[in-house]
Amino acid sequence: MVRVLPHADMDKMLSLSKRRGFIFASSEIYGGLGSTYDYGPLGVELKRNVKEAWWSSVVRERDDVVGLDSAILMHPRIWEASGHVENFTDPLVECRQCNRRFRSDQLETGACPDCGGEFTDPRRFNLMFRTFMGPVEDTSHEVFLRPETAQGIFVNFPNVLNSSRKKLPFGIAQIGKAFRNEITPGNFTFRTREFEQMEVEFFVKPGTDEEWLDRWVQSRFDWYVRHGIRRDNLRLRRHEGDELAHYAKDTYDIEYRFPWGWGELEGIADRTDFDLGRHAEYSGEELTYFDDETRERYLPYVIEPSGGVDRATLAFWLDSFDEEPDGNATRTVLHLHRKLAPVTVAVLPLSRNERLVPTARAVYDQLRRVLNAQYDDAQSIGRRYRRQDEIGTPYCVTVDFDTLDDHAVTIRDRDTMHQDRVPVSALSRILQDKVEHGW
Ligand code: ATP
Repeated sequence: MVRVLPHADMDKMLSLSKRRGFIFASSEIYGGLGSTYDYGPLGVELKRNVKEAWWSSVVRERDDVVGLDSAILMHPRIWEASGHVENFTDPLVECRQCNRRFRSDQLETGACPDCGGEFTDPRRFNLMFRTFMGPVEDTSHEVFLRPETAQGIFVNFPNVLNSSRKKLPFGIAQIGKAFRNEITPGNFTFRTREFEQMEVEFFVKPGTDEEWLDRWVQSRFDWYVRHGIRRDNLRLRRHEGDELAHYAKDTYDIEYRFPWGWGELEGIADRTDFDLGRHAEYSGEELTYFDDETRERYLPYVIEPSGGVDRATLAFWLDSFDEEPDGNATRTVLHLHRKLAPVTVAVLPLSRNERLVPTARAVYDQLRRVLNAQYDDAQSIGRRYRRQDEIGTPYCVTVDFDTLDDHAVTIRDRDTMHQDRVPVSALSRILQDKVEHGW
């Protein structure tokens, strides 16, 4: 059965977020700054785990992708070559009555949704943030905050190729901040002006691009499913011809069923040789690849899986939410994938008894060296289990009076609530196995 979050649940999620420390409105004590968010102690762990899972899957577990961390500020000519100066625009209209501004392609009617007023004609609004490099504030010192991480990869293609001695097909992956001066940000962290991207540029021989596009679409879709998003809440959408970006030959979006409707998590595009070709032209540098096997020299084609860290984090988090009957009460639980959960294991002494606490503390000290662990001895054990369920902790370890004699503890599974008794000496290994393999 498809379980779709009703809209009301978004309110519950927002309250959980604030109460438990997932995501806060930025600059809150100054009244906030429109659509910017800060990740709290739990949110930052969740987001780091999402990035780690992505990096493992696209870099560490493959031998044909290497990593990169390029600068946010880059030479302004890069954005001319990439087409961003000319094309990275949204159509902007302004209400003649209340002066509010909107993206005209997102409006359902021709009248202002706020006051019913009439709009101006649309004009093209460039989404790049501008700033100045050095102490002189004139246009010759103007630079942009990157609107995507991709271009840092393209301009490093020869550096990475020469230093890593990779052969085609191979890719370069990067995670980093990107900035877009969105006209209408909104829906929590779905659309913000500062966000993080996780992108791969995968360089292939022209003619093999369609096959590689299919492979990447499949592998990226599977990644979301493998990390816990229900297949029914995901879909693939191929871009129509007129929707394709200026650089793309073909594109698929992986979309998630957010409480407000379907929204893009990631786009996988066949960018052809557009970017390398333009950078070769604008920089005057040689960016072709010499194929040893065929003795040919050519500009590689590029397949680009480009996802948003914040959107993926939001989708994993929303999709994991559940409220389950528990006796006469309701148990709120986040069924987060064990590798994504902000806290992996909580150590809970049965009570604050002076003999139990040091033993439980010793177990906690042992576990936190290898896993993200938390210690909690406040309130009843039942309340503490619920507190951990609510933040998605997959395992709770309980230290009780028998532990003092048998040197064993109980591991409670978040989803099944099944309990297993295991020796303290094997606890770290057992939990690490559970996290790695799910058993
Ligand atoms: P949209 O159509 O939603 O504006 P896009 O097609 O412009 O997105 P891309 O340029 O393909 O997005 O960027 C790649 C990924 O970066 C997106 O799939 C999304 O996950 C993320 N992303 C883009 N813009 C934002 C934003 N304003 N806030 C948060 N994440 C974003």
